[in-house]
Amino acid sequence: MSALAFPHTETARRVSDAERARILTDPGFGLWYTDFMAHARWTIDEGWGASEIVPFGPLQLSPASAVLHYGQEVFEGLKAFRHADGSVWTFRPELNAERLQRSARRLALPELPVADFLTSLTALVAADEPWVPVPTGEQALYLRPFMFASEEFLGVRAAHVVDYYVIASPAGNYFPRGVQPLVVWIADQYSRAGAGGTGAAKCGGNYASSLLAKDEAAEHGADEVMFLDSETRSSIDELSGMNVFAITADDRILTPALTGSILEGVTRGSILQLAADRGLEPVEQRLVLSEVLDQISSGEITELFACGTAAVINPIGTLRAHGGSWTVGDGGSGETTLALREELTGIQYGRVADRHGWLTRLV
Ligand SMILES: *Cc1c(COP(=O)(O)O)cnc(C)c1O
Repeated sequence: MSALAFPHTETARRVSDAERARILTDPGFGLWYTDFMAHARWTIDEGWGASEIVPFGPLQLSPASAVLHYGQEVFEGLKAFRHADGSVWTFRPELNAERLQRSARRLALPELPVADFLTSLTALVAADEPWVPVPTGEQALYLRPFMFASEEFLGVRAAHVVDYYVIASPAGNYFPRGVQPLVVWIADQYSRAGAGGTGAAKCGGNYASSLLAKDEAAEHGADEVMFLDSETRSSIDELSGMNVFAITADDRILTPALTGSILEGVTRGSILQLAADRGLEPVEQRLVLSEVLDQISSGEITELFACGTAAVINPIGTLRAHGGSWTVGDGGSGETTLALREELTGIQYGRVADRHGWLTRLV
């Protein structure tokens, strides 16, 4: 049972029907926001209190809010998909709810009950229903729940006042060029997470520390950056916001084991299941970079891809580092990678049977 109701009292729309229709023809990613947002506040004395759906707009925040100084913040990302009959669904939201709780625990933030997380999504998408695109390709409504230390206090401790919001943004393709093989730069001087750190939490700080490496990747003509383990810099962790997989010629599908410095992706877990369903052998283990590069060169590894909610599954065609460049397969999009992508998006958009019960109806 959800304790928070997220009532919707102010219902006037912010954006006209005509303007919304124009935006939805080509939304891009992370550029446009809906009419409303969900909000709930937690205080140390009252716990989770007032919840509401309010018009999307600027927040009133003290310049002394703890988050602005010490970065006590966590977030989530998931999508709402419109099916052919007009209904709106989301994908395994309980996993996002549980991960938000784990992230919050690591950042000393309060845990939002799973039922309340789900209610916040249902209430917001009901209010913003016209914003869920009718997909012609892969459009969806991207949902961004987040939670931060809003207490006005410059002392260093876990905040006593915390705000939770969900905002929503219509999304087209994450990569402007569409599904094309990525060039990925291997970071050899920057780490995203260390042992005992926050790598397994979805928090803004991990992203802040990845940006310079991403700039370095761009300087080398790469689209994305791959991080190695911080201790030995010899095994693959993940990209700045996506998990990594390799497929071998003998039908194994490899991904780095969850060591504590890797974010446990919902997409990652779903791919492990779908791969096993189609007869691949899933292997979660330490992926030693030098071995992976050798296996790419020898043709033992035939495909490499990155995955996450925003980009779904994206082939990696080239790995690049200070020492050289490695082309995966023929540098194009791998057959199994594209088949897994087709199946996963098929389930999400209701074109393929949801045999694992992964979808939850929102509207
Ligand atoms: C969100 C995220 C992912 C992907 O997780 P999904 O649940 O599949 O969207 C991977 N790595 C990092 C660092 C992330 O923040």
